Amino acid sequence: MQSGCSKCGKPAVYLRRYTSERLCDSCLVQTTLDRVRRTINRHKMLEDEDRIAVAISGGKDSAVLLDILRKIESNFPKSEIIPVIIDEGIHGYRNEALEAARELTKSFDLDLEIFSFNDLIGHSLDEIVEMRNERSLGVCSYCGVFRRRALNAAAQQLEADVIATGHNLDDEAQTVLMNIMRGDSRRIARTNVPRSRSLEGLVPRIKPIAKISERDIVAYAHHLELVYHDAPCPYAGEAYRNDLRLFLNEMEHKRPGTLLAVLRSAETMTAAFLDSPSTWKPMTCESCTMPSSTKLCKACEMLEELGG
Ligand code: SF4
Ligand SMILES: [Zn+2]
Ligand SMILES: [Zn+2]
Repeated sequence: MQSGCSKCGKPAVYLRRYTSERLCDSCLVQTTLDRVRRTINRHKMLEDEDRIAVAISGGKDSAVLLDILRKIESNFPKSEIIPVIIDEGIHGYRNEALEAARELTKSFDLDLEIFSFNDLIGHSLDEIVEMRNERSLGVCSYCGVFRRRALNAAAQQLEADVIATGHNLDDEAQTVLMNIMRGDSRRIARTNVPRSRSLEGLVPRIKPIAKISERDIVAYAHHLELVYHDAPCPYAGEAYRNDLRLFLNEMEHKRPGTLLAVLRSAETMTAAFLDSPSTWKPMTCESCTMPSSTKLCKACEMLEELGG
């Protein structure tokens, strides 16, 4: 890249397309931190004395999330960062991701808390795959619902005030479109409840890097040489999401800012849903007493279907 950094004039190494900023290495890091800090403040995600459970996967998103949060939280001496990994029990894959997560947290001088599906749900994901039948959903659907449940249980055990997850802008925009296209736009609101509206029994969840694109995250992780594991999960391949990823990448390339616009629309829809008593009626699951939008929560329904 020929020209100078838009911020400081030093040689630029990166073009952030959606803001048209040309950035040098240090301004890439600084502006990323500033964007996350703004997201946290705008949505009142954190308080000064929080115990923050940071969901680590071993991948690049959570590595960047952990690095950014520990930097931001260094200004709040009474807050605490607790990296947590959920081991789903995927033979081969998770062991390598666990190693990367251990190395990353050690380099930050933090202790990694490890919980497993086996302990919290009663089955590993490999076992769940075996328990499915021909009418069952795709593996990622079970993994997502049980991981959510497991992470909540882990955060409760750790007495965390909040759970931070590493969903990035690309993930979020894909999920929003996926829910709209499946006719389940209420789900957008249910999975984005702001901290101030969180329900009894559920540790509030925040997504501090939801406005950072995957491309920015790769550049950030690369520049700081963060340790992460990059191999795909053997069960990966949610075809719908992959189609949307391709479509959104193309749109973002043609019209930078598309992903952020999708996220803004989702925020407006979420606010409208949460303010409407006819659509926002959380109940309690008959089986596990966790908050649920249906009589039986998704996790209990899935466990029942699997016969476990
Ligand atoms: S790709 Fe699917 S099965 Fe693999 S970890 Fe992600 S959600 Fe779970
Ligand atoms: Zn610069
Ligand atoms: Zn339940």
